[in-house]
Amino acid sequence: MTHEYNGTGFIEVICGPMFAGKSEELLRRINRLIFAKKKFLVFKPTIDDRYSANEVVSHSKRAYKCIAIKNATDILKYVTPDLQVVAIDEVQFFDDSIITVVNTLANRGIRVICAGLDCDFKGEPFPVTANLLALAEDVTKLTAICAVCGKEATMTQRLVDGEPAKDSDPVVLVGAKESYEPRCRKCHCVRHE
Ligand SMILES: [Zn+2]
Repeated sequence: MTHEYNGTGFIEVICGPMFAGKSEELLRRINRLIFAKKKFLVFKPTIDDRYSANEVVSHSKRAYKCIAIKNATDILKYVTPDLQVVAIDEVQFFDDSIITVVNTLANRGIRVICAGLDCDFKGEPFPVTANLLALAEDVTKLTAICAVCGKEATMTQRLVDGEPAKDSDPVVLVGAKESYEPRCRKCHCVRHE
């Protein structure tokens, strides 16, 4: 087996709940890449179109253009020999082939920066993020502020018509008004029915 690792590739993961500033931190790192004149590409899954299809946008509306892709393996089609850094936002929405893709890129000497949710609204880890956290050389776990008590929030609360969501609620609820807010472990609530 060929040992591809050339000593410079590595994986960074930026994780945390919603409203913790993950995209903001990713954009901060992208901004540094621009100043450092690095050759880089930014990707996100096509599923996320909250603000813009072809930009990584933070809640504070900072933005950077990116390539929206459907399958994680599509990233490999864009890799050129001079590529130094790959940034990926909303990484939890990719299927688990993203883990192999990220590992492959790092083994080729590329710095890979992944940002995404670590847990879903039930407080259960997204398998993709959990795996990447285990493989990463560098992990940044960001927190938000609990919308109920003002303490540090590590969890995402899903609300349906203003009430905590049930664990049986489908991902998309037709006709219901749903929202999300950051909460601490104590204030986070999932209704079991
Ligand atoms: Zn709280």
